[in-house]
Amino acid sequence: MLPGVIGVLQANEALKILVGYGEPLVGRIMTFDAQATEFGELKLRRDPQCATCSVPPPAIKPVAVAS
Ligand SMILES: [Zn+2]
Repeated sequence: MLPGVIGVLQANEALKILVGYGEPLVGRIMTFDAQATEFGELKLRRDPQCATCSVPPPAIKPVAVAS
């Protein structure tokens, strides 16, 4: 059951980003307690020392993959 619930939520996040619609989980992590059937949310802070999250998201460009 759990992979189904989480998989659908991840697919929804991917669609929001691809279509540019809605409010994607950027800078946040969703938690799901299946035993209590409760959703929660954690906010993430940027680490100024981190090469990935210290850069504003628009500055990150996709890397072309050689075929
Ligand atoms: Zn980071």
